[in-house]
Amino acid sequence: MTSLMRVAYAALELYSPERDPAEIDLSDNTSRFGIPPAAAAALRSLPADSLTRYPETYAASLKQALSGYAGVPVECIATGCGSDDVIDSTIRAFGEPGDSIAIPDPSFAMIPSFARMNGMNPVLVPLDSDYGVNVESTNAVQAAITYICTPNNPTGTTIAAEAIDRIARASRGIVIVDEAYVEFATRSSADLIGRHPNIIVMRTLSKAFGLAGLRVGYAIGDPQLIAEVEKSRGPYKVSGVATAAATAALREDADWVRMRVRDTVANRDRLTRELLAREIEVAPSEANFVFAPLRDARRIAAAMRTRGVAVRPFDNLPAVSPALQRSCGAALRISVGPWDQVERALDALDEARSECA
Ligand code: PMP
Repeated sequence: MTSLMRVAYAALELYSPERDPAEIDLSDNTSRFGIPPAAAAALRSLPADSLTRYPETYAASLKQALSGYAGVPVECIATGCGSDDVIDSTIRAFGEPGDSIAIPDPSFAMIPSFARMNGMNPVLVPLDSDYGVNVESTNAVQAAITYICTPNNPTGTTIAAEAIDRIARASRGIVIVDEAYVEFATRSSADLIGRHPNIIVMRTLSKAFGLAGLRVGYAIGDPQLIAEVEKSRGPYKVSGVATAAATAALREDADWVRMRVRDTVANRDRLTRELLAREIEVAPSEANFVFAPLRDARRIAAAMRTRGVAVRPFDNLPAVSPALQRSCGAALRISVGPWDQVERALDALDEARSECA
């Protein structure tokens, strides 16, 4: 059978995060605040056509709603089945097999896989000691595609606009700026597109909007590049059900989402203070999660799980920061939800740490 397979696929594995149900799940940065009300109402009163007919070819009404929400013209928007799909399509649209993709390390774990799935070479560029992107090393790759994530998953830290600006200016290719967590941050990089038309910004309804199960993501960029992303992604990729709920949420739930974001940011900062008070180091987060380099993170996460709380452990991360050096590349990433859930996580963490000491 192996003779039937693509050589580049031999190194690929299926994505398999730990997904056993947990009473309190703060492991995947999805929202723990429930469904936006207008989206829930739209799902309860779906027109039959949204199931019996094909959805809109290129998601015209969803793009209209995104245009209003994001404040950019419709022709500057491409949609897809989660931002995973939009990122994958963008890589395929602009990278030839054999080309390189520059990817900061650590960053979103799926990107090297998307590179290989499209026959391209992922080139990992270690982040600086303060989790900033290393502009010189990134530019030295001369990649066809450069990926930047801000706020960055898993560190929660932001990349300075000035660094993105220097990378986009030096790049002979496309610069993908992944803003999956932008609603929780103090600023967006979307305004850089005006100065650098080679930038494409990725967003999602999976995080602040709490609609990860719908699988709706989008890109913002120059209309000519956006058309290439749509060619590469193909038609009918956002279902009629997802279109109905997402469109309602974007049009009617923006204030509701803003309130949940405000609560998340307050709880994130409170969680950060609680961790620091326990002498656990925390990276400065502008996302809906915190990143805490911690020795034995995997054992601690397992002990927390037995107490009903799921968080995401990492090990073998590149020891780019002093905190990651001290933790030998291990860390916990804790998503932020309502305070009672975060409090349960802190209690489980305290017990787990004394058990693992
Ligand atoms: N980008 C980043 C940085 C992420 O963390 C995630 C989800 N974990 C995604 C993209 C993909 O999100 P989705 O496909 O749900 O839009």
